[in-house]
Amino acid sequence: MQLKPIIRAIPDIMRYKPENLYDVRKHLADFETFKLANKRRKSLVRFLRKYRSNDLDLIKALENCSPKHPCRTLACPRCMRKLRIWLFDQVVPLITEAPRRWFFVTVIFEEHRYQRGELHKFDPKKLIERFRAALRKVGIEHIVAFGGLDYCEETRMQDFNSSPTYTWCVHTHHLVYVSDEKAEELRRILRERFRDSPYARRPVQFARHKADKYTIFQATSYCVKSVYNSAIVARSPSGQSARKKGRKRLHGKSQAELAAFQARQNLGDRVLLVGLKRNQKSIIRTRTTPTITAAGFKAISYLNVPIRKWDDFSSIV
Ligand SMILES: [Zn+2]
Repeated sequence: MQLKPIIRAIPDIMRYKPENLYDVRKHLADFETFKLANKRRKSLVRFLRKYRSNDLDLIKALENCSPKHPCRTLACPRCMRKLRIWLFDQVVPLITEAPRRWFFVTVIFEEHRYQRGELHKFDPKKLIERFRAALRKVGIEHIVAFGGLDYCEETRMQDFNSSPTYTWCVHTHHLVYVSDEKAEELRRILRERFRDSPYARRPVQFARHKADKYTIFQATSYCVKSVYNSAIVARSPSGQSARKKGRKRLHGKSQAELAAFQARQNLGDRVLLVGLKRNQKSIIRTRTTPTITAAGFKAISYLNVPIRKWDDFSSIV
């Protein structure tokens, strides 16, 4: 198979310094350290050498990635850590303006399941378009959303003794700002469009976001992850239902496959923005929502996180 060129998709934010209030390293105790991200980069190089030895461009890029010359691919744990630190600083101020108005929405796309080794068949644009089509039905102009794609590899066994099959299950996590009235409509439309199936029992999860600082950082982290999991699914002894047996880190072979795929993606295939857009080193609004309500202000004082002044978003387009 002909390999597409790798893409330097991460913007030039490697020296970006977040404000203290929005610096994830100060708020999430388990946020990956530089040391851990670097260790993950090194083990990814080992997995690529073992399972994807023909992907020399990517192996070289990751191997040569250094603070001075970052590779800026979406596959690199060290550059992704930098991207995530930058994203928190851009997104958390928006959420803290009116934290009770945000919903956490997860959608599982039943049609986007790929056998291990076939992830290259996946086109993120199709999935993103399907989600945006649901938003358009509600009126996309009422919505501000930030989200990202999540890749879970399902290890499925007919029973605990049979040999497993491995399937990529692509899904998305979003933080969605929408009025209460429109939220109900959005929930209904998503549930109509993403129905229960044997492979996705609750394909739409839709919950009001908790307005405490820890949850805001945690949810933002969940939208654009740095580590992906493998979920083990097996039939119950009665054969009636699938049950989850646990989660673990992806197998090295899958980590290599995912890295090879993500290194060839643009940022827009990984991070979803609605009512927002990236303008060089900032994420800016593309419309003048959200409206800050009295309830929003109350929540903010509870959070003790000052909002940025509206003027800080002077580049609104
Ligand atoms: Zn890198």
